[in-house]
Amino acid sequence: MSLASRASFTLACGLLLALAGLPAQATESGLMADQQAPALAELRADAAADPKLDARLAPLLRRAYDRPDEALLGLRQLQADPANAEYQLLLRWVEARIAVQAADFATAERLGNSLAGAPLFSHRLDLLRAELADRKGQPQPAAQLAQRAVDGLEKNCVRSQLRASIAKGCDFRSIWYALRVLERKQRNEGALPLAEATARYGLELAEAGADAYMSAISMGSLALLAHAQDQGEASRRWLVQALQTAQGDAQAMAQVKVYESTLASHRGDLPTRLQALEDGLAFAEQAGAERLIVQIRANQVDTLLRQGRAGRAVEVALEALPLALQRHDLRIERTLRHNLSVAYVQLGQQEKVRREVARLDELRLGQPDQNLRMLELRELGEAMAEAGWAKEAMAIYHEERKLSAQVNARNREAALQQLQLKYDSERKQRDLELLARDNSLKDQQLGNRQLLKQVVVAVAALLLLSLALSAVMVRRVRAANRRLKANEALLRAQSERDPLTDLANRRHFLAVMEQQAQRGFQGALLMIDIDHFKHVNDEYGHAVGDIVICEVARRISHAVRQQDLVVRWGGEEFLVFSAGVSPEQLGQLAERVLMCIGEAPVQSSGGPLRVTASIGFAHFPLPPTQQPLHWEQAVNWADKALYMAKAKGRNRALGIAAVQAQDGAALQQIEADFELACSSGRVHLREVLGPP
Ligand code: GH3
Ligand code: MG
Ligand code: MG
Repeated sequence: MSLASRASFTLACGLLLALAGLPAQATESGLMADQQAPALAELRADAAADPKLDARLAPLLRRAYDRPDEALLGLRQLQADPANAEYQLLLRWVEARIAVQAADFATAERLGNSLAGAPLFSHRLDLLRAELADRKGQPQPAAQLAQRAVDGLEKNCVRSQLRASIAKGCDFRSIWYALRVLERKQRNEGALPLAEATARYGLELAEAGADAYMSAISMGSLALLAHAQDQGEASRRWLVQALQTAQGDAQAMAQVKVYESTLASHRGDLPTRLQALEDGLAFAEQAGAERLIVQIRANQVDTLLRQGRAGRAVEVALEALPLALQRHDLRIERTLRHNLSVAYVQLGQQEKVRREVARLDELRLGQPDQNLRMLELRELGEAMAEAGWAKEAMAIYHEERKLSAQVNARNREAALQQLQLKYDSERKQRDLELLARDNSLKDQQLGNRQLLKQVVVAVAALLLLSLALSAVMVRRVRAANRRLKANEALLRAQSERDPLTDLANRRHFLAVMEQQAQRGFQGALLMIDIDHFKHVNDEYGHAVGDIVICEVARRISHAVRQQDLVVRWGGEEFLVFSAGVSPEQLGQLAERVLMCIGEAPVQSSGGPLRVTASIGFAHFPLPPTQQPLHWEQAVNWADKALYMAKAKGRNRALGIAAVQAQDGAALQQIEADFELACSSGRVHLREVLGPP
């Protein structure tokens, strides 16, 4: 059995393998550090803030793996330097971790306990205790503590900006060590993808922290993990990278060579394996890495056994065994003794086999590593079978079968747990996604609702505004219409009124006539004309003429009834339209008008003026014919009568009392020659005289 074989289940380069306990001096110094420590609260523990200190501590922790005694000496120097006074707590923590590597668990625990409660140390204490548990062979609590350490320490780190985080105090080294513990446990449980992810994270940290040693170890680990997952090409690439990264660093090279030998062993490539071990040994000796030297020797023993060189294997094993014993490295001692027992089987030395097996049983006590035990049994059984020790081989075979069943059951359970974990995390992820989707949907709905509300408010506001505007517009339009109508009415009124006399004018009369019944004009008409008006104008001037016209208009209006329409027909001509007057009353009306005009003189600037007028009047339809006439004809008939009144001497009214005409044509004939019709008696006139 080689350490390389063990690498299938544990890290081949178990960096944390213990070699020996700390010397007594170390324990005393630990006590001294405890006594000299200043008050906890006054101290800073942020090594990352002091790159110089970090540069001195990192090699110490690395050296602790091989030579904890040397590491402790280096630490003592740092502790004695007053420049580091404020870092005493940190140095004590490093001392505890060195004690772990020296398998001095009591000192490690005591120092650790003295740090409990110190600010900034809780996560680092988790790492210390993880390493402690790991070294004691308690992978489960070790992994839990390591995970807690990672979770806590990670808070100072941003994974996407590790470099910047490290500059600001992200303790990448502690996280890296914690990840190593985690990775080993994940690998042991067969959770290879998980272990690979852990190793990759470790590599990221190491590279961001520019630590080539740590980077090379992580790469070697990744090479093993890739191989275990049947990714030969990736495995080779990682190994090449690890070798390149370890260049110039003998200790790193020695360790990467152990990785190389392990990979060769897995491939069954004994010559490469042997060469890698020899190279590794040379590097380890160059670096003074004693623990690695023993480890490599143990692997060489295994290779010799596989080559069938049992005698030489015993020699090398017996050479290496005292070194392992000296360092209290139980694991290497166990490997060596197992290989020795196999070698003795091959050499047929039964007594020695029994002795080694008994010692192995003692070493195994308290070691829960069933995988390792199974491998040992298989190798021993096979060797016994080959040597013809049938009975012993059978016993071993049964024991191995029993253990194998247990391991299989455990592996199945672990795989199930992995699946469950994966399922749980996927479900959690799904739930989270659903929740996120649900939330975004709700956000959208909320947004939409708000938008809708805003739109509704905006539309309502617009509606109100447009309503208000419409109301204002309607009111304005109505007011404008009213004004328009009023103006229209005013205009109409103005256009139908005579400005001098304020009587209706011809246009107004026309408008009234248009509303008359179509059947013919009905009612009475009086056409009035002032006598000899030219004289007034000529003698007194146009202005006096105007006064006379106005006064005559007033007198006519006064003479007629309220409902009668008085129109200024032309210059000094007036027309009275009386719809309601009877033919009998009409003569009286004409007389009243004559009287009103002529009875009293008109007062003017030129003195009192006597004014008379002549009137032609008629009632329509004309009696007795009752022939319908158009209003224009009716006006013409009244005008004809007026003409006759003028002709008869003025200051009188002549009314058409009767007309002898059978039809419309006869009437037209009379109209055409009115004078003749009067003289021939076809028109009968009645005369009303004006005032004397
Ligand atoms: P008759 O008795 O035959 O009617 O004689 P007359 O002088 O009244 O003759 P006629 O009716 O032909 O003359 C009307 C005159 O009235 C002619 C014109 O100069 C005058 N006239 C017309 N309109 C106005 C007006 O608005 N103001 C004034 N001052 N004179 C007017
Ligand atoms: Mg006239
Ligand atoms: Mg006249």
